[in-house]
Amino acid sequence: MPAPYVYRFGSQRTDGAAAMKNLLGGKGANLAEMCRLAIPVPPGFTISTEACTAYTQQGRDALLAMIDAEVREGVAAVEAEMGKRFGNAADPLLLSVRSGARASMPGMMDTILNLGLNDEAVAGLAARSGNERFAWDSYRRFIQMYGDVVMGLKPTSKEEHDPFEVVIDALKTQRGVKLDTELDAADLQQLVQRFKSLIHSRLGRDFPTDPWEQLWGAVLAVFESWNNERARVYRELNDIPESWGTAVNVQAMVFGNLGDSSATGVAFTRDAGTGEDLFNGEFLVNAQGEDVVAGIRTPQQITLEGSRRWAELALVGEDERRATYPSLEELMPGLYQELLAAETTLENHFHDMQDLEFTIQEGKLWMLQTRNGKRTGAAMVRIAMEMLAQGMIDERTALLRVTPDRLNDLLHPVFDTQALKDAVPIARGLPASPGAATGQIVFHADEAEAWSKGEKGSGKAVILVRQETSPEDLRGMSVAQGILTARGGMTSHAAVVARGMGKCCVSGAGAVHVDPKARTMTVGSVTWHEGDWISLNGSTGEVFDGRIATKDAELSGDFGKLMALADRYKRLDVRANADTPTDATVARRLGATGIGLCRTEHMFFQGERIQAVREMILADDEAGRRRALAKLLPMQRGDFEGLFRAMDGLPVTIRLLDPPLHEFVPHDDAGQQAMAQQMRVPVAKIKRRVEELHEFNPMLGHRGCRLGITYPEITEMQARAVFEAALNVQAEGLKPFPEVMIPLVGSVREFNPQAAIVRKTAEAVFAERGAKVHYLVGTMIETPRAALVADSIGSQAEFFSFGTNDLTQMTMGFSRDDAGSFLPEYVKKGIYEQDPFRSIDQKGVGQLVELAAQKGRSVRPDIELGVCGEHGGDPASIGFFHKAGLDYVSCSPFRVPIARLAAAQAAVG
Ligand code: ADP
Ligand code: MG
Ligand code: MG
Repeated sequence: MPAPYVYRFGSQRTDGAAAMKNLLGGKGANLAEMCRLAIPVPPGFTISTEACTAYTQQGRDALLAMIDAEVREGVAAVEAEMGKRFGNAADPLLLSVRSGARASMPGMMDTILNLGLNDEAVAGLAARSGNERFAWDSYRRFIQMYGDVVMGLKPTSKEEHDPFEVVIDALKTQRGVKLDTELDAADLQQLVQRFKSLIHSRLGRDFPTDPWEQLWGAVLAVFESWNNERARVYRELNDIPESWGTAVNVQAMVFGNLGDSSATGVAFTRDAGTGEDLFNGEFLVNAQGEDVVAGIRTPQQITLEGSRRWAELALVGEDERRATYPSLEELMPGLYQELLAAETTLENHFHDMQDLEFTIQEGKLWMLQTRNGKRTGAAMVRIAMEMLAQGMIDERTALLRVTPDRLNDLLHPVFDTQALKDAVPIARGLPASPGAATGQIVFHADEAEAWSKGEKGSGKAVILVRQETSPEDLRGMSVAQGILTARGGMTSHAAVVARGMGKCCVSGAGAVHVDPKARTMTVGSVTWHEGDWISLNGSTGEVFDGRIATKDAELSGDFGKLMALADRYKRLDVRANADTPTDATVARRLGATGIGLCRTEHMFFQGERIQAVREMILADDEAGRRRALAKLLPMQRGDFEGLFRAMDGLPVTIRLLDPPLHEFVPHDDAGQQAMAQQMRVPVAKIKRRVEELHEFNPMLGHRGCRLGITYPEITEMQARAVFEAALNVQAEGLKPFPEVMIPLVGSVREFNPQAAIVRKTAEAVFAERGAKVHYLVGTMIETPRAALVADSIGSQAEFFSFGTNDLTQMTMGFSRDDAGSFLPEYVKKGIYEQDPFRSIDQKGVGQLVELAAQKGRSVRPDIELGVCGEHGGDPASIGFFHKAGLDYVSCSPFRVPIARLAAAQAAVG
């Protein structure tokens, strides 16, 4: 017998389980698991992801042949449990059709509710429910969703937004009412007629009246939607492979809009923003689930505590709160207790914070979804550490619970309190996703993209301001500094997506009037235009006029505990790439145990130094160069002293001059004129020297140790500066550990003469001073040849530091700066799984790393092995370096905590 494609769930029989996510998708697997836990779930069945794959590969007819019988059996089982028949006009069983991939993709795939309605069934529904308005409202919602998702009726212009809403607005105007809720049954019936005509006139097809035709259309549309634009964007942003496919869940409808004893809501077992262990969430009385997410009405809080906190933020007084926005705990205490029991069961069962959807139909609670809740980086850390303390998870799990990159949220700057003093608050919304953001207003997602791109990434900082966001806005949201919406609650689309992205968001700022057509935002009598600056505090919900300075975050508490835990488990050391004492101090505060790369040339550009550097470049002979270098020596020495002090007791790896000399001279006329004047040399001489320095391919030109080979006096000066600085700092009672690194070596015969200069200079300085420091001389492994002959180089070099940026460029044969024109296409086409500059190409470049490490160790067992390329801060690459047996990674200061956690995960994973 072939494997089944359909898996049932319900109170009678449940085939699936939480462990079957790959097959049933996250939603389907967890619906099944809830049934197993005896939590009330409307019965239904899941069509597996394998069916999606079959559909993609073999098409519609083949799929239908495979699953038809199983689907019919599944519907029959639901009919039996609900005591209603699908397609029975007198008392119709209505279904929801819900997509659900392995990884939750909020808002990505489209759900269809109330499926099974037609002109006859709507009458049956009205008669059975005794609620004609409800019946017609259900029908018009169904047509609206089905018309959009399955039949593909899309807006014809940007302004239209939603063609069905245009029809609704027209009817409301005609009837002289403001709210949807003011439309009566006859109006809704009218809407149904108008929707059908709209569909007919725009699409040339009729709305399907046969329930089975409706069902198959919806199922196929879900499979189809796996490949729609917005799903693809989300997958791209989240590294979800296309091959996974989505499952489809077909489930009996329950109704939260059957009057005042019905409701629908969303809840979190802990606070998704802060991580606080507090059950919380929002609900709406007499509403369907989509109403909560769409953010059209102001939702009420589930718990009394949450309700009080909300009222304080929203500036709602206690009397008004109790009268207009009571909590579920107050309004329906019995059902609240049931919900509380379910949330406790689910969190204890899954050992993680759950994000729940529920509906109450005429006093009966139904759970519609549970999943591990999305959360901010801060919440991730707090929940992991508190669950560890509560004995719910072990240390290993706690470490794996935090996505390293999300630590970025905690490291993000907050507003400078001083600057905040003068800030003018203009409105307040909900603290939907924490952090501080400042930027220029744009009103459309595509403009957010255009503005933020700019030239070579030097784009503008934008704040996307919307009435409310929808999945179409995803790209724009991902490039904005922050998001402000006028409508919507803590679980609105904007809020959920922003938290997922770790992006500052203020939602539901009701006082803000947004006019996307006019490109203005108005509060009271004041208007802001596109391009004006505003600032958002996603932690308090405040909106400010103008640009506000930000400052660094605090790193104690749960964050500190997590880092301490990570340090106990990790084997890799984490150093930082830092060129200045300030960077080094930041890195140390963030837990770096050394500097893995100090780029000495970065010191050459500051102030008067560049002049001495240019003198050296222009010099006609060695004597001239030495005169210029003598001026640089004290400056460079001073820099190193600062670094050694900041890194007292820890190693500091100093790379000798690396970039080609033409980077230090001006290439434009005006710059050359100025240089000529300043240095009192003819401009022609400068032009000539610049021409001489011109290279066709600077990346492969006169750079790295090739400079030191041709101009040994540069190496000598730099080595002298290092050792004099080290002795000076040692004399202060500190412990400097210099590691001098020779760049771009490809042969031991390049390494040896450079190492000899460094060692000879060290001995000379030690003799002059009558004191010594411990030091190492090593090399970068960044050319493929160096990796191939690493045993011969390792016999002379005391450490290797993998320069994985250059190593990647030279191994792949394309430069990072030029790859932009084709690499994204390559990744899209799957030629490379990802950008090899972002995450190391383990199969190719990685082999060279492994080979060199092994060859180095074979000749020098205690050789120190590290990584100083960008990959040193990339969690996936760190996992690889751990496996390759390296000693440390080095990354930019703000990635140090991320690298520490990633290193620990590599060790326990
Ligand atoms: P998403 O993946 O976007 O959360 P869902 O499949 O959960 O989409 O459905 C969207 C909304 O539709 C949910 O908020 C839920 O409340 C509602 N819904 C889904 N299935 C049912 C059902 N069987 N009965 C009532 N409402 C439902
Ligand atoms: Mg859902
Ligand atoms: Mg390099």
